[in-house]
Amino acid sequence: MSVRLNNKNILVSAAGQGIGRASAIACAREGARVFAVDINEATLATLVEECPEIQVHKLDVCDRGQINALAEKLPQLDGLFNCAGFVHHGSVLDISEEDWTFSFDLNVTSMYRMIQAFLPGMRERAKVQGTASILNMSSMASSLKGFPVRTLYGTTKAAVLGLTKGVAADFVQEGIRCNALCPGTVDTPSLRGRIASAPDPVEAEKNFIARQPMGRLATVDDMTPMVVYLLSDESRFVSGQALLVDGGVTI
Ligand code: NAD
Repeated sequence: MSVRLNNKNILVSAAGQGIGRASAIACAREGARVFAVDINEATLATLVEECPEIQVHKLDVCDRGQINALAEKLPQLDGLFNCAGFVHHGSVLDISEEDWTFSFDLNVTSMYRMIQAFLPGMRERAKVQGTASILNMSSMASSLKGFPVRTLYGTTKAAVLGLTKGVAADFVQEGIRCNALCPGTVDTPSLRGRIASAPDPVEAEKNFIARQPMGRLATVDDMTPMVVYLLSDESRFVSGQALLVDGGVTI
């Protein structure tokens, strides 16, 4: 059995489906004690069926009270993967104030809340273990590249990079590392939802594939090796970075 995350306590948000779920399972298979959180209890229940060693908790990452209560309950973390996020569709002219507030709350502010709640325990843990790792979900659609109808999404994911670098800079001397994952287009339930809700779903899928120069969408399994690496001690000299796993889109 592989044990790259042996003896590590790792929390993954948005773990009910998609990249978060695959990451929670990959971390458990590498020996971590995984705490998987999501707002959706039904998908968390299927996660436990698939991987019984994972401990699941219903959590709304937009609710500071729930987050703080969970932080009190859980052991100190070695790894925190802030994965939750939402993709707004539209140009700047389509974004309502409500859209703006919602996307920033879920995609950015939630990470600030989670880090504030769990970092004190991670600092203690790093004193003993030498290191602890925060991973924030960004995207190739951020400050790294612009995409049509992704202005609000890209703005929030660029903010995630600023948050990541700030946290990395403040705690680097304590062994706390903070990095961001920037995926290309990944085949997940929410991507399938975006394709299905397009006026022409067949054309929409073709267009998503066309923007990936390798000629295919990423799978969640294309993402998990980088997640495991960034949460493991193998990346102990890596901090403050935006790591692209985009199949060459930004070549
Ligand atoms: P997804 O969108 O399919 O699933 C998101 C999960 O987040 C769901 O399980 C949902 O219940 C959960 N969630 C939603 N609101 C929540 C809340 N308030 N509190 C807790 N959980 C909540 O997953 P995905 O497509 O794998 O995306 C995950 C992350 O990866 C997002 O941040 C997304 O922006 C980012 N990302 C995705 C892609 C892609 O192409 N799929 C590309 C780049 C980045």
